[in-house]
Amino acid sequence: MRVQSLDLYQYRNIATLELKCPEELHLFVGPNAQGKTNILESLYVLALGKSHRSRSPRELIQFGKQRAHLKARVAKDGQIHRLEVQLFEKGKKVSRNGIEQSRLSQYIGFLPAVLFAPEDLALVKGSPQVRRRFLDMEIGQVSRTYVHHLSQLSKLIIQRNHLLKELGKNRQTYSPLLDVMDEQFVSLAVPIWEKRFRFLRMLTKWAQEIHQTITQKQEELMIEYVPSIQIDDGMRTEQLREIFANELLKIRDKEIRRGSTLLGPQRDDFRLKANQLDLHTFGSQGQQRTAALSLKLAEIELIHQEMGVYPILLLDDVLSELDDSRKTHLLTAIRGRVQTFVTTTNLEGIDSATLEQARIYRVRQGIITELG
Ligand code: ATP
Ligand code: MG
Repeated sequence: MRVQSLDLYQYRNIATLELKCPEELHLFVGPNAQGKTNILESLYVLALGKSHRSRSPRELIQFGKQRAHLKARVAKDGQIHRLEVQLFEKGKKVSRNGIEQSRLSQYIGFLPAVLFAPEDLALVKGSPQVRRRFLDMEIGQVSRTYVHHLSQLSKLIIQRNHLLKELGKNRQTYSPLLDVMDEQFVSLAVPIWEKRFRFLRMLTKWAQEIHQTITQKQEELMIEYVPSIQIDDGMRTEQLREIFANELLKIRDKEIRRGSTLLGPQRDDFRLKANQLDLHTFGSQGQQRTAALSLKLAEIELIHQEMGVYPILLLDDVLSELDDSRKTHLLTAIRGRVQTFVTTTNLEGIDSATLEQARIYRVRQGIITELG
């Protein structure tokens, strides 16, 4: 899959842009605050209908203007598809091949994209919530049932917490309603765990390979799921159900005292290790970045396996904290597989083979010019 062209109108600090970009690698170079991230963000918006760093469409419209228009031509399965996003002060319109899509869910999926931005370092450094969100978003991209189960689960947890608080207030420890809820809880939690296990297994394999390439086998990456109860990947469905049901009974009094649900997939985490060391606590900045990057790049393979196409890759500012060796091996690892858009403040340390293949653009105050 390739983005053939990108046209922007009144998007952030970019008044107009008409970019032909059929090549594989595109490098956007410029000092801070010039519009490099804005370009990647616009591709992300065309892919997913929303920005990764802003909730309101309004922020994406150029200051003082009423609307913004984004267009991309995408080559996929020998055909060209036209994607369009129009942003207004209130709301947006998305269309494919000239036909407006009333639901965002019908629009997305045509241009799968993997973005790595500086914020993604939080995958290693941040709270468990960040990692769960990553898992849930990524599995959600390839499994609708997973999304369904998750939303059912979060509704159930709200009701359950409510009931636990009630019981606590009334000093009750027995409730037939809680029994019913717990049965539902088990039925939702187990398939979520099974999906996460399956997904992490695949992701780990690919992330390890990529990590080995970038670090030249200096480091071995491990990803460990950290569940809130004693379960693991090897367990059968029935076993998982039984263990979870028992644990819920054991902790019931405590949950009633606290008025809150203490176990379940919504409490789990995963840990990233390099050469056995927990990167959250002991990783250097560069190590943390490399691990987060490997995890994200593994997503490319996952999307390819589950959806049959390679996504586009958007790398925002990743090169700055990698040493020259990691930089070179990262760029080598992605070469030849996916169309990639990279931002950087300078070209130092980028190997000549990469520079020869890339299209390089200078970005200054929202104006993008190709360097010949
Ligand atoms: P850095 O190297 O620091 O990451 P960058 O080149 O990626 O810089 P961008 O994030 O793309 O910079 O932002 C460029 C500029 O766009 C910012 O200075 C910001 O003020 C401006 N900007 C953001 N939103 C809008 C908007 N809606 N209208 C006009 N300009 C905007
Ligand atoms: Mg930026």
